[in-house]
Amino acid sequence: MNSMDKAEIADQRKLFGTNGIRGVVGSGMDVRLALEIGMAIGTVIRGRIVIGTDQRSSSQMLKEAVVAGLMATGNDVTDIGLAPTPSVQYSVAKSDASGGVMITASHNPPEFNGIKVIDSDGTELHFSKEVEIERIYFDKAQKTAPWYEAGHLTTDSEANARYIEGIKGLLDCQAIAGSGLRVVVDCANGAGSVVTPNLLSDLGVNVVTLNANPHGSFPGHPSEPTPENLAALMKMVTSIGADFGIAHDGDADRTIFVDDHGGYVMGDRSFALLAGYAVSKAPGSTVVSTVATSDVVSDVVTRNGGKVVQTMVGSPVVARKMKEIGAVFGGEENGGLILAEHQYCRDGAMTAGLMVEMVAAKGPLSSLLDNVPTYHQVKLKTACPNESKKKVTERLVELLSGNRLDLTDGVKVYDGGDWVLIRQSGTEPIFRVFSQARTKERADSLARKYMGTLKDIIIS
Ligand code: MG
Repeated sequence: MNSMDKAEIADQRKLFGTNGIRGVVGSGMDVRLALEIGMAIGTVIRGRIVIGTDQRSSSQMLKEAVVAGLMATGNDVTDIGLAPTPSVQYSVAKSDASGGVMITASHNPPEFNGIKVIDSDGTELHFSKEVEIERIYFDKAQKTAPWYEAGHLTTDSEANARYIEGIKGLLDCQAIAGSGLRVVVDCANGAGSVVTPNLLSDLGVNVVTLNANPHGSFPGHPSEPTPENLAALMKMVTSIGADFGIAHDGDADRTIFVDDHGGYVMGDRSFALLAGYAVSKAPGSTVVSTVATSDVVSDVVTRNGGKVVQTMVGSPVVARKMKEIGAVFGGEENGGLILAEHQYCRDGAMTAGLMVEMVAAKGPLSSLLDNVPTYHQVKLKTACPNESKKKVTERLVELLSGNRLDLTDGVKVYDGGDWVLIRQSGTEPIFRVFSQARTKERADSLARKYMGTLKDIIIS
């Protein structure tokens, strides 16, 4: 399927965005929506459904409504309680469940919440099934079960423990325990609080926690792991002489690292290191990234004897491609990394565990990063009405046809040894221009050059 087809299908979605349905609680996201969407999900996915939540103040309320909807349509529900998104996915993938639901708005501010639907193999639901759920929701075509077929609700308090055991089973626990590593983990008061500190201490790592008390209003800092939000973590790593720092977003499907000098590690660089490490353990294997991923990943993977396949932007696309071609590792530069051996989804605690193993085996994180090339990226955006997006993209392709182009997702144009990716947003009336180059100046000038071309097309 090319990017045009996907854009057209994605455009049919009115509720589901890139990561499920999201909205501000009480305006756009409320218990009525949760109940009726729960019934629509229960009409499409039939059988036993696993549900979990993050720690947001509204999560319990929304979960109860979704659970009622799932049961009213005749499905049994297993409630695993407070859990990272990948723990819910693991619970679905490793059992006979037909699907799962996660109540979370990931890194969004505390007033937001969301409903994410998981397929029977633990991957995020394909958007064609999201379109079907929406159709049932808008048509009010939910199929209510008769009284004698109402679903049963059970709880499972061991799901997070099984998720932790699953991660430990893939790591060299002996080498980690013998390494004497000291690590600071910042859980952003999110769902990672109930998993990652336990995993690290089980591994014999000397763990210091920050913001590891789950709290609905994210009192420590906003839960997107940006350099600004991780100032305390960076300071703590240097002040106690830790080997590195770990930070999760609110639902702990993503992990960002701080090196032993207290430096913030950009997500493409930690992706490159861990992908190279995974490939070095499986010679000749493949890593999946997206067309927006910096070349640092292919540089490091190639150096380790592996190869890289690029897909459209979005972790579900990456996960499905990995499964299809048997890749060992994959992800995106936002810290959402996937280890095939564990499961086909972004997996925050697994990523943390793999980094612990790699640093234990190969020495300080800052030294490992010294051997990774640096690329500079510039991101710009400009307004464009949704109805013009398709025409604008077609015109861009025409105009740039003299250059080497990659049309996997939007228009990626190669210019010298550098590139620029021009993509329409799937959710907002905008285009994004994303450049990569060896120097900051070159990345700036490239982004501006192609932004000029794009704007000329939009206004013409
Ligand atoms: Mg997340």
